[in-house]
Amino acid sequence: MIRIGAAFIDNRWTVGAGRSVVAINPTTLEPCAEVQFAQPAEIDGAVRAAAAAFPGWSALAREERAAALTRLHAVLEERSEIFVRAMAEEIGSPLWFGRAIQMGMPLANLKIAIDSITTRFDDEKVGSSLVVREPVGVVAAITPWNAPVHQIVAKVGAALAAGCTMVLKPSEVAPVTASLFADAIKDAGIPEGVFNIVFGDAEAGRALVAHPLTAMVSFTGSTAVGRAVAAIAAEGTKKVTLELGGKSAAILLDDGLVDAAVAAILRLCFSNSGQICVAHSRFLVPRHLVEQAHELCRRHVSDWTLGDPADERTRLGPVATKAQYERVRRYIQKGIEEGATLLTGGADPVAGLPGYFIRPTIFTNVTPEMTIAREEIFGPVLSILPYDTVEHAVQIANSVPFGLSGGIWSNDRQHATAVARRMRTGQVAINGAPQNLATPFGGYGDSGYGRENGHYGIEEFLQYKAIHGVA
Ligand code: NAD
Repeated sequence: MIRIGAAFIDNRWTVGAGRSVVAINPTTLEPCAEVQFAQPAEIDGAVRAAAAAFPGWSALAREERAAALTRLHAVLEERSEIFVRAMAEEIGSPLWFGRAIQMGMPLANLKIAIDSITTRFDDEKVGSSLVVREPVGVVAAITPWNAPVHQIVAKVGAALAAGCTMVLKPSEVAPVTASLFADAIKDAGIPEGVFNIVFGDAEAGRALVAHPLTAMVSFTGSTAVGRAVAAIAAEGTKKVTLELGGKSAAILLDDGLVDAAVAAILRLCFSNSGQICVAHSRFLVPRHLVEQAHELCRRHVSDWTLGDPADERTRLGPVATKAQYERVRRYIQKGIEEGATLLTGGADPVAGLPGYFIRPTIFTNVTPEMTIAREEIFGPVLSILPYDTVEHAVQIANSVPFGLSGGIWSNDRQHATAVARRMRTGQVAINGAPQNLATPFGGYGDSGYGRENGHYGIEEFLQYKAIHGVA
């Protein structure tokens, strides 16, 4: 079993006197890592290290910071398969998803951050004034467990490119990937103190946000915790970005593409066992196409073989934790109690698989008022909601407090784009188009505020200064 120290400060691991917790492999239910939680002195030490490194790092030319991040990219790329295997073990993410998304996205994202910092952000002349952008300062970054490397890199790439230094509190559920990332930082020669980690749970997160030397909070996680974090940050007048939950809708328009839509929507809902913030968990289908959609769902769901995530043939692994397993099963039960029709799947344990496995589950005849149509389940559960007119579909799509992602399926791209404009959400994919990582990513409403990715993500870590009378 891997043992991980409480903190990574100035590129060195510390072992403190705090309590330890054991991370469980969700496939075997065996312990896979033991991580020690940081205590207040270590959290203070990590923030002070980041504050001490800030003047030097922020003063570097943008090209020098880009060069350091390019070295980090090379180390991450070289170790990619190690990360993929670690995520299969610690959160049950299948190898195919690990390679394509869990590592594919951060590697692409980091490259875009490197390109952006060297090609944008020049000072601007406005009349006789100069507008310059300066890094905000020490960033407190808090991340969840479901895409642990991607969420860390989305913050690290942008914050470090901008000239900020940081302390990360990764999820206690996925400590191994976070520790592998810290080792990569050191081996890439990122200067001491620029990136630091403290391990822990809510208590460590709160201490980091409240620390007087953290100037900004970049949070990814649930809506409830995001609100709590923002409330603490407000006490210190800190800048905050929140990447929160979602309940995204995929709207099938009335002009064909049913087969392609169903296969892709199952992928967009079930990948990583539904534990993706942008999961298309609501499928809005014209009423007269519902029967056809059912038939296709039954056919395509058989592609989603459950099994050991470390097996190349597995499409769907377990959910990551016992809490998640119980939560998803409760939602499935709730769907049945509230009158939705179970088309396939269900909450029963899966024979022959001892871990936290949940079968890909599809409900139909779901109405917009039902709990499963309103709340984020974060599991492999799709709800089919019939609709009558496009107006009705847009109204259903916009009827939840979240707004993170969404999709439109249509042969008419112009019409699809017009409908996409009416959806109150941070991104919309037409006909399953992949997310373009150079564009802004973030939420409306309860899905949060602030943006990640591309130069938009870097901008969040910068602040403007106007210098008047330069000429
Ligand atoms: P979570 O909110 O429980 O935890 C997120 C992080 O916050 C963890 O590191 C946790 O230890 C820490 N934390 C918990 N309570 C805290 C507190 N009171 N103060 C400070 N820190 C605290 O979320 P999770 O279960 O780890 O992740 C799942 C959630 O994350 C889902 O809602 C999902 O939609 C969301 N998510 C959003 C995005 C996005 O980009 N919008 C991406 C991935 C996941």
